[in-house]
Amino acid sequence: MVGFAYQLSGGMAVEFARRLILMLLAIIAASSPTFAQASAEHKTQHIIFVMTDGLRWQEVFSGAEASIMNKKNGKVANEAALKKTYWRETPEARREALMPFLWTVMAKQGQVFGNRDKGSDAFVTNGLFFSYPGYSETLCGFADPRIHTNDKVPNPNVTVLEWLKNRPSFQGEIGAFGAWDVIASVFNPERSKLTANAGWDPFTAMTPTPNLTMLNKLKAETPRVWDDEPFDAIPFYTAMEYLKEKKPRILYLSLGETDDWAHEGKYAEYLDATHRVDAYLQALWEQVQSMPDYRGNTTLIFSPDHGRGKAPHKWKDHGQRVPDSKYIWMAFLGPDTPRMGERSNIQPLTQSQIAATLAAFLGEDYVADVPKSGKPIADVLPH
Ligand SMILES: [Zn+2]
Repeated sequence: MVGFAYQLSGGMAVEFARRLILMLLAIIAASSPTFAQASAEHKTQHIIFVMTDGLRWQEVFSGAEASIMNKKNGKVANEAALKKTYWRETPEARREALMPFLWTVMAKQGQVFGNRDKGSDAFVTNGLFFSYPGYSETLCGFADPRIHTNDKVPNPNVTVLEWLKNRPSFQGEIGAFGAWDVIASVFNPERSKLTANAGWDPFTAMTPTPNLTMLNKLKAETPRVWDDEPFDAIPFYTAMEYLKEKKPRILYLSLGETDDWAHEGKYAEYLDATHRVDAYLQALWEQVQSMPDYRGNTTLIFSPDHGRGKAPHKWKDHGQRVPDSKYIWMAFLGPDTPRMGERSNIQPLTQSQIAATLAAFLGEDYVADVPKSGKPIADVLPH
């Protein structure tokens, strides 16, 4: 190349040098950080986001709590049986008995935040500490004072899922499923045109499979313990059927029994519901790892909408009058999340950061478009 340049006449040599410089500048520009961000060196192509309503950080990090495992504080009918299932001598052994997938897979291969006993705080910023404000903060990235009830009203704000769906570059389907009937309203399906199914509504947005037909029958025909939600198994298996059939880019699932059993003060049922949610996470994870399109490129996110009060008397409740219900937890697992396990002694995180983090896993900059959103959690993203 250099030898060739020597043979050129003066004017041609200047022109050659000018072109060479332009070419080099183009190469430098292509590898600059701005460009790298746009091309996003992330492996995540699919997201599974599971929330479970009102599960306390105390059980997540320390397992079953002794002062509630009885008739007086937790309406426990068979204390010996409950202890056999969930009581162990150390918090580490207790939490693993309660949530084996979270502690043997997510915490080992991903990251878990919110253990206040180890200097890791995660909290809700909406100041209300109940469901709709928590789901909206999580999914929109900010608290909105207009969201101050649990009424079944269409969300005036755009969720990160709706925002992603409307990105020109976004390909693929998004499906949102909820036990609680208000979950559909959080996504404002009329406006967003997202696939959203919740509560007792049959799921009719895909060609019925034998499983889906049965699930819709069970919704219609089984007794309703709660007016506003079926047991978690129904939305879970509905979401699973949708995952297998429609292969969405993003699957969102909110489960509700953890909150309902706690409100009823039934600790054994609350622990069993928590244990089932953990098994559902494992089933979703194993399902995606068995699908070639998803294997190695799926990120799993897990969080609640709010916390609850302290044992033994306030664990049933949450809301403004229970300040402890501000505290939550969150877990991440996937090909882009460094294996840092259970986090300790770090800056606090907020619920409002989850939306931008979800978008960042897919290479999208949510905060640039929604500046009031919390910032992505850098520690769980590729560096
Ligand atoms: Zn509640």
